[in-house]
Amino acid sequence: MNTSYVSIDVPFEFRHTCWFCGEPYYESHAFMAKPNYDDQVEPIMVPCCQECFSFANDIKVSSLDILRDKVKEKLHKKYQKHLQIGVNWTKEELEDSEFEGKALEGFRESGWKMFEIAKERVNYRGWAVSIDGIPVEGLTTAFQFEFDGIVYTSLNHAVTQLATAYAIPQPYLEQVIELVGRDKMAYALRFCKTTYGYSPAERETSLASLRALLAEEKANQLASTINKKRAKKIAISEIKELILHRTMISPYAIQWALEHGATTLQLLAEQEDAFFEHFNQESELTAFTYFNGLQIYLEQREIDPEWVAQSDPNNHLF
Ligand SMILES: [Zn+2]
Repeated sequence: MNTSYVSIDVPFEFRHTCWFCGEPYYESHAFMAKPNYDDQVEPIMVPCCQECFSFANDIKVSSLDILRDKVKEKLHKKYQKHLQIGVNWTKEELEDSEFEGKALEGFRESGWKMFEIAKERVNYRGWAVSIDGIPVEGLTTAFQFEFDGIVYTSLNHAVTQLATAYAIPQPYLEQVIELVGRDKMAYALRFCKTTYGYSPAERETSLASLRALLAEEKANQLASTINKKRAKKIAISEIKELILHRTMISPYAIQWALEHGATTLQLLAEQEDAFFEHFNQESELTAFTYFNGLQIYLEQREIDPEWVAQSDPNNHLF
């Protein structure tokens, strides 16, 4: 029987520490890959605390990083109530709360501490694994997902845990995340929490309105990008003053319109407030006169293409 083994290197500052969670050392777990894709010959000894040691012994996986993730998931599960304290409370709220009765007072005093310990353990990053000074390649943390200061082993894991913590049906949270994107977990949770009812029909209605909202946001973004592209800096000296229907069209108004992409009546209407805010600094009368003139000018450009081509002295600027 082969009784030899190798140990992962333990840097000085991490002596007596669990590689998984940072708690005090209890015993080393003898890791053997299963399935053994890389033809591992000897067990690799990994320092554990008592709890992670018992977790690790029940797990059969093909690599150390998967073992780490599975141990973390067991920690998350076991300490879910403690981790949830941070979801439900802030430190100050908990301190100020008026729990009465012995058990509840105890909770107030130790609640935040329990949360912090659980959080530190699940977030603990261990140290880079090497054996006899040679780094062990291929261990990844690429799938980890962090939300609200807590590290999850993957997006999927976060969704499972958070759905429970926030009492949201998991498939529903999954659908919302899929729509809004994984970087918008806070938004997704807020959306799910404000959803009116979780029956299939109610969920479908909420999802439909979310889809519509997102489509609208996307269209607005696109429009504002286009407007920005259109907007350009133009020297006042390049702009010709003109008179239309006995109204003087100010070059300053035209300059503002060109620089803000307000080059049609519709686009100007969208930015009316901004226009007045800008020119009211001179006077309300100025702002009104400029706006009126600009409207006449833009309308002329819209209804009379021939005039635009033949007579508009500023056409090349649009
Ligand atoms: Zn541990």
